[in-house]
Amino acid sequence: MQSIQQFFPLLTQPSRVVITTHQKPDADAMGSSLALMHFLRQLGHTVTVISPTNWAGWVNWMPGTREVLDYEKEKTRAEEILDRADWLFCLDFNIFHRTKNMTEKLKSLSCTKILIDHHQEPDTASFDYGISDTSKSSTCEMIYDFITEAGYGDKINEEISECIYAGVVGDTGSFRFSSAHAGVHTLVADLKSRGLNHGKIHEGLFDNFLENRLRFIGHVLLHRMEIFYEYNTALIAIPKNDLLKYHIKTGDTEGLVNFPQSIQGIKLVALVIDRDEERKWSFRSKGDFDCNTFARRYFEGGGHYNAAGGRSSDSLENTVARFKQAMKENEKLLQ
Ligand code: 5GP
Ligand code: MN
Repeated sequence: MQSIQQFFPLLTQPSRVVITTHQKPDADAMGSSLALMHFLRQLGHTVTVISPTNWAGWVNWMPGTREVLDYEKEKTRAEEILDRADWLFCLDFNIFHRTKNMTEKLKSLSCTKILIDHHQEPDTASFDYGISDTSKSSTCEMIYDFITEAGYGDKINEEISECIYAGVVGDTGSFRFSSAHAGVHTLVADLKSRGLNHGKIHEGLFDNFLENRLRFIGHVLLHRMEIFYEYNTALIAIPKNDLLKYHIKTGDTEGLVNFPQSIQGIKLVALVIDRDEERKWSFRSKGDFDCNTFARRYFEGGGHYNAAGGRSSDSLENTVARFKQAMKENEKLLQ
């Protein structure tokens, strides 16, 4: 993989561009994709954002979301556009299998592939150009760097600012994680000086759910949360029936994993949701417990040091039992 700086000179050649991201895109995935779309269009490129799957309804306020193609819903059209693309940008993921059903199609493309991502262990051999930097707070921060370092800072307009800010807020837990380094605050100061209305973005991200989701959270915290004080660990396991009963949709469970972190002394939070195709894990930690290693070792996953995800094909009951065993094996690290 050549450096992203080596790609900059190509930006002046109008091209057909596809931008894609991981399945079930969150604020950073969608925000970075849309910010890059709005930027590249100003340079005269033809740009389509393709999401491998659907996304949370609360992402729809982001400028440009209505134009995004859902690969699972519009496969034929999406594949035609992919076949014609000169460039494929892969944002906020670093290995093709994180695009689920799109994986084989992406692998088969012969166009120029560019990676911009902040997760660990990138599959750099699959990309022509790119940057992989785990010290970055978010892929949105990296898009900001991409635009400014390529010499196009003047192109950062209201739409781009809103998308970038949303991803930064999403991935830094509203500026609380250690990934919110000084440069992140400088970036925000720059966006503010360009006129960003940050309150609007917080409303879009956090005040944009329906009543059922809040009732669901109440139910889950009361009935589905277990605290293991001897391991400083909280576990939430959500059976499929709960999702059906409360009409839970994509994105409604976002943020749920953060609630147990408000309990004094909790070091690790694990959330597992019984989805149709798999049991999906989210892990969050404080301090020196490495969620990335834990997720990789026990649940075919990965991510960052203090936030990672994983999966299991086993039943909810069995995957919970496996977690409890893993927790015990990690007793020393959880003290
Ligand atoms: P979340 O718990 O919010 O779904 O994910 C937390 C972090 O871990 C995100 O940065 C996400 O991209 C990453 N992640 C989630 N699931 C997986 C997975 O199955 N594999 C890998 N490698 N990373 C994941
Ligand atoms: Mn991200």
